[in-house]
Amino acid sequence: MTASTTGVVVQGTGGVWEVYTEQGDRVSASMRGRLKHEAHGALKLAVGDRVTLARDAQHAETWAITDIHPRTSKLARRMPGGRYGERVVVANLDQVLVVFAAARPEPHPRMLDRFLVIAEANGLSARIVINKADLVAPEVSAAVFADQAAAGYPVHHTSIRTGEGMDALRDEVEHRSSALSGPSGVGKSSLMNALFPGLDLRTGAVSESVNKGRHTTVGAMLHPLPHGGFIADTPGLREVGLWGIEAGQVASCFPEFRPLLEACRFADCIHTVEPGCAVREAVEAGDVSSGRYESYVKLRDELTGKG
Ligand code: GDP
Ligand code: ZN
Repeated sequence: MTASTTGVVVQGTGGVWEVYTEQGDRVSASMRGRLKHEAHGALKLAVGDRVTLARDAQHAETWAITDIHPRTSKLARRMPGGRYGERVVVANLDQVLVVFAAARPEPHPRMLDRFLVIAEANGLSARIVINKADLVAPEVSAAVFADQAAAGYPVHHTSIRTGEGMDALRDEVEHRSSALSGPSGVGKSSLMNALFPGLDLRTGAVSESVNKGRHTTVGAMLHPLPHGGFIADTPGLREVGLWGIEAGQVASCFPEFRPLLEACRFADCIHTVEPGCAVREAVEAGDVSSGRYESYVKLRDELTGKG
């Protein structure tokens, strides 16, 4: 007799995988031989994948992964030139939470734009969290990422000290699968542990800087939330980086540029020196923020080797 269930891969990088089943159990499982063979190459199993599990009554303690369900999204590190394909860091994310502090450490709009472009290039929606709102006046907090708010990104102002914004953020995170990103020390682990007591994120584990030197060995890990949904605590967007993003793709990773791109005089406009550029006209008219435009030029230069 064979028992079967479905679940979500929460940890593992090959060999044995940890799967969180729909019954709420954490089990170890390995890929069934035939599937392993089929999956070789194109579809490798990744954290976040939904899978079907089966186990034989005779070997009651071991589960086999018999099927990988189609992915709805993937955060992937692409190799330059696409020669070695890509490595899926987390599958089936619903959103990325990019966390900064209103102060201590100082927020960096250009670093935020970089994270937002990586999310866009991966087809993921992003939500901005400005934590430590208690450290500055409300109007200062509101001004921090006003340009990104104007571009259409939802912005949350939170404080684990005063509780400001916590319920609203919890509502957007529960029942969804979210990746956490942002510099170290902004309060990512404090925030998640305050939103979901008992979650017990590894302190420091979600720090981008911590992962920098060991990105090839540390895989993402999904934490199930009490009422459904997951938080991926590492690695973040910086680990995925701009790898494999085409220079020509960058402009469309700025949502407020998108409606303008068709209006440039030249179809191959790169929005830097060309006459009749709708993007630069919008910047001059104050309709597009000069800071966001500066990020565009910087990221594009980086991808063309000029940065
Ligand atoms: P992480 O590296 O992003 O995970 O940051 P941590 O969660 O380790 O927090 C870094 C520091 O910021 C800790 O000392 C926290 O107590 C503090 N912190 C976190 N959230 C807040 C907040 O909302 N307000 C204030 N004032 N401090 C906070
Ligand atoms: Zn243009």
